[in-house]
Amino acid sequence: MHDTSSPDTKPAWVCARCGEALTLGKIEIAYLGSAFPVDLWHCKQCGLVLVPEDLALGRMLEVEKMLEDK
Ligand SMILES: [Zn+2]
Repeated sequence: MHDTSSPDTKPAWVCARCGEALTLGKIEIAYLGSAFPVDLWHCKQCGLVLVPEDLALGRMLEVEKMLEDK
């Protein structure tokens, strides 16, 4: 098991597709027909984007609420 709670400057994730270290940065995600800039781990090599489960389950709901407010 890896301990992910300790701060670390090394990349926490490695691309599952090509093995490149993932980079944390702004990624535009498409949701409900709109694009939102979100800080996500992504692979510069092949463009794979890692979507953490908490983002998929939690933040997406927040995004949905934001849309409803408009
Ligand atoms: Zn990759």
